[in-house]
Amino acid sequence: MATAGATDIKRVFNFSAGPAVLPEPVLKQAAEEMLSWHGSGMSVMEMSHRGKEFIAIAAEAEADLRELLGIPETHKVLFLQGGATVQFAAVPMNLLRGKTRADYINTGQWSKKAISEAKKYCDVNVAATAEDRNFTYVPDRSVWSLSSEAAYVHYTSNETIGGVEFHAVPDTGGVPLACDMSSDFLSRPLDVSKFGVIYAGAQKNVGPAGLTIVIVREDLLGDPLPSTPTLLDYKIQADNDSMYNTPPTFAIYVAGLVFKWVKEQGGLSGVEQKNIAKASLLYDFIDSSGLYQSPVAPADRSRMNIPFTLRKEGLDDQFLKEAREHGMVQLKGHRSVGGMRASIYNAMPIEGVQALCGFMKEFEARNG
Ligand SMILES: *Cc1c(COP(=O)(O)O)cnc(C)c1O
Repeated sequence: MATAGATDIKRVFNFSAGPAVLPEPVLKQAAEEMLSWHGSGMSVMEMSHRGKEFIAIAAEAEADLRELLGIPETHKVLFLQGGATVQFAAVPMNLLRGKTRADYINTGQWSKKAISEAKKYCDVNVAATAEDRNFTYVPDRSVWSLSSEAAYVHYTSNETIGGVEFHAVPDTGGVPLACDMSSDFLSRPLDVSKFGVIYAGAQKNVGPAGLTIVIVREDLLGDPLPSTPTLLDYKIQADNDSMYNTPPTFAIYVAGLVFKWVKEQGGLSGVEQKNIAKASLLYDFIDSSGLYQSPVAPADRSRMNIPFTLRKEGLDDQFLKEAREHGMVQLKGHRSVGGMRASIYNAMPIEGVQALCGFMKEFEARNG
């Protein structure tokens, strides 16, 4: 270990929605390799992105991601910058391809942002919305009114703020499916062949902020809107192995370590089983309690982000303060919905969820 006394370091259970908890073995390995990566005498942060060391790091990260998700040869993997927010514009710019209309499913705050950005580039048909019940459910596929001329159908597989998640990939016939998968990417197995494009900011479930992963079907590349900035042109990024300009090198390296860690967890079915166990523990506890409640329809509850409220007024600040004193941080709900939110991504160990339930139970006994 490069860090003296590292065993004495006290870590908290971090329930942040993002940037979020990372696997401890990954952080340790990054620390050990900080001054000299594999005998190179350099930190990954100091390497040229054109050098053989970093080219190998990026290639291995892509290969591991392809293996984890079983990404078919038909799809390109891009390691980009700008966050999921930039993809809200890049998706219409690249996928309209001569059409002027796209279908969007509105399940919450992130869908809404994707919709308002897309409106700058095309005619958006909101084919279904959950706004009528304050974004607490996923509208059933049978009520979607998709338009026949849509270039693609966009949805948000997991609403990080509202805690609503799609538990199946919707069928859109032959129309390309575009998905913002920022907060449940790599949380379960996925059939990538069903998608035109998947994008995800890394800082939720994959790695450090600064990296955005895009997986796009190759036959959709090459006919972007004429005004598309070079860096947002998927074809140019694909043709240049995501190195048209300097990529987020250190974030790609850490994401690569996370991919290896996920493989060691039994791959995506392994992490899915753990994620189901963690989420069930917390939801079952909330449902059995008299103090806490989940606003989300049971069938559409997220395994990653679990919002809950306290039925009694005026206890929120005390709850957060005491949780912090017990080593559990970042439990405050998003400012737009209030209450609490526990984000329990892949890297949150079940011990963190057990500790949270234990604390909540004890807090209820004293205040319920
Ligand atoms: C966090 C998040 C975003 C925004 O990501 P940035 O990387 O900050 O642009 C978009 N969509 C979802 C679902 C998110 O969770």
